[in-house]
Amino acid sequence: MSGRHTRHDLERTADDDALRDLEKMWHDSPERDLRWHPGLDVHDLDCNSTPGYDGNKGDGEALVAAHAAELDDLQERLFAEGRSGGSRSVLLVLQGLDTAGKGGIVRHVVGLVDPQGVAHRAFGVPTEKEAAKGYLWRIRNALPTPGMIGVFDRSHYEQVLVVRVDELEPEETWRAHYDEINEFEAEVAASGTTIIKVALMVSRDEQKKRLTQRLERPDKYWKYNPADLKARRQFGAYLDAYQELLERTSTDVAPWHVVPADKKWFSRLAVSELLLAALRSLDLGWPPADFDVEEQKRLLAES
Ligand code: AMP
Ligand code: MG
Repeated sequence: MSGRHTRHDLERTADDDALRDLEKMWHDSPERDLRWHPGLDVHDLDCNSTPGYDGNKGDGEALVAAHAAELDDLQERLFAEGRSGGSRSVLLVLQGLDTAGKGGIVRHVVGLVDPQGVAHRAFGVPTEKEAAKGYLWRIRNALPTPGMIGVFDRSHYEQVLVVRVDELEPEETWRAHYDEINEFEAEVAASGTTIIKVALMVSRDEQKKRLTQRLERPDKYWKYNPADLKARRQFGAYLDAYQELLERTSTDVAPWHVVPADKKWFSRLAVSELLLAALRSLDLGWPPADFDVEEQKRLLAES
């Protein structure tokens, strides 16, 4: 059990009770409250809701802040394990339509840990070379090495999203990807990677607000892409694609979490809690010294 103790537990301050109160605002646990389950239809999802969570914005932000030290500590343990011959890693897959907040999550949630231990990769339209290699090639190349937290901003799932909606491949080709992806992820999980998949669901109205902002603020122009309007017209087709993706690729080794994203504070809270839960589940300790500590102390004193 001692391996589970974190800096936070060891310090046990008066803030502890306050933290417990903040944690209790989850009905059960974020992993269970947000996990996709049969019957959850994204067409009916209220993107402004906070499923499984009773707190408000202030509570949510306070919980993220209160858990930041533990997140940082566990990430360092994972990194240390990787440096000491361990094989485990974590992969956070972020999917969501434009403006769903993928970039904000990387900045505000993943940004809470040491960037040394993070391998971030955003996937855009495949280059000619990438396309020639098959859609999983660039994904395999970007998988986290031992000790790392890999973060995918978009992923292999684009092959059953944009590819389906824009008819970039015949239906029988993209349909085959569901099983291929499940097989691929089973292999990745078996090799020691804990996979966290998050579908960030933004509503059509909120997307319009966020795109409008991009057009009104010179500091946001760079994020605007005239092609985003096309995807907006296909909003319904994307929801269909998301629904089937959830139904076909939420597996025991790599379950999907559905996170309403109209409230940025909630999606950030949700992802930070999912990442924390994944790291906690690894029961990370500190690698033992592979040298004689007492001898080294003596030699250092004499040096
Ligand atoms: P952004 O995330 O805003 O930089 O946009 C990246 C773009 O790349 C999106 O329009 C995606 O749909 C597109 N994209 C990502 N992966 C693929 C893929 N496998 N095939 C086609 N387009 C893709
Ligand atoms: Mg974009």
